[in-house]
Amino acid sequence: MGVWGKAISGAEDLVAAGLAAPGDLAALAPVLASYKMRITPEMVQASASAGVARQFVPRPEELERRPEELTDPIGDGAHSPAPGLTHRYPDRVILAVTHACEVYCRFCFRREVVGQSAALPEAELAAALDYIARTPAVTEVILTGGDPLSLSARRLGEVMRRLAAIPHVGVLRLHSRVPVVAPERMTQEMIAALQVGRPVYLVVHTNHAEEIGAAAEAALGRLADAGVALLSQSVLLRGVNDDPATLAALFRRLVALRVKPYYLHHCDLAPGTSHFRTTIGEGQALMQALRGRISGLCLPSYVLDIPGGFGKVPVAPPHVVEAGPGLYEVTDWQGGRHLYRDPERDQAAALAPARNSMP
Ligand SMILES: *Cc1c(COP(=O)(O)O)cnc(C)c1O
Repeated sequence: MGVWGKAISGAEDLVAAGLAAPGDLAALAPVLASYKMRITPEMVQASASAGVARQFVPRPEELERRPEELTDPIGDGAHSPAPGLTHRYPDRVILAVTHACEVYCRFCFRREVVGQSAALPEAELAAALDYIARTPAVTEVILTGGDPLSLSARRLGEVMRRLAAIPHVGVLRLHSRVPVVAPERMTQEMIAALQVGRPVYLVVHTNHAEEIGAAAEAALGRLADAGVALLSQSVLLRGVNDDPATLAALFRRLVALRVKPYYLHHCDLAPGTSHFRTTIGEGQALMQALRGRISGLCLPSYVLDIPGGFGKVPVAPPHVVEAGPGLYEVTDWQGGRHLYRDPERDQAAALAPARNSMP
């Protein structure tokens, strides 16, 4: 093991790295036959922390399939106009450029597809780009996978340039675990591949402060210095980060590294992930515990991807409830209740035509 070693992907490697006992292997064999494992040297080292290890080390519970669990938990398949493409919202699409990842997270909502044939074949990529080019409503393209930063810098740069050549695509976004789990991949060539004359947002996936080592810190610094806007997404995971101190440490660490926490996802109903799932009530209590106690910069939006393909919605506890016409009961961060009344509107504002219809 050690940072300059190889990623581990077999049961015996787990034992050699001290992440499983020889006696566990019989129970893990069928898990590894169903779901791919890969743990980068950086994450093998960080797995000294139980909250990090639990995300990557397979467990027999993964073969327990609950009736509510779904192969396509967020219903992406229902909104796919071309292979690799998901178009659920009017102005943005997801383009899955590869099924490969640097690490295979045990709670992944795409665990039934990741790790299979890797890169999107050229014909499919061309068809996806053609769909985007003929759909002017699409102004943002979100590269995901798999992990888009597992592509070579050359291949990624080519995809980025082809996207930037479509005039109505104004914003490019990538979702990736690479800057944290394989920071050595964030070379100057990879960073240059992101710079194609369009604003680029990189949403870093990370779930625990102890995942973020010195090399990740340096990689994030290089990205921020290069003008890449950095956000993060995390998944709320039982036994990993489901307590206020762990979440606060993660979000503060990210903000200190110029990464704005964006989403905290409620764990999706992927097969064999029930040991990771909290209740919505537990998630709401955590958000309530954090609000006001840590900087607003640190607070992501707690969201649920509604099973069946209906999109993401915030599920944080409501701070305001309607108590009458124009009257609201508002709860402050310490639980105090207050009434707020909308001021009377002046006549001119009330008569003005609505200006807010969406494009
Ligand atoms: C999450 C998601 C997006 C991005 O949603 P934002 O709220 O803009 O971050 C886009 N398309 C699909 C299909 C998604 O699941």
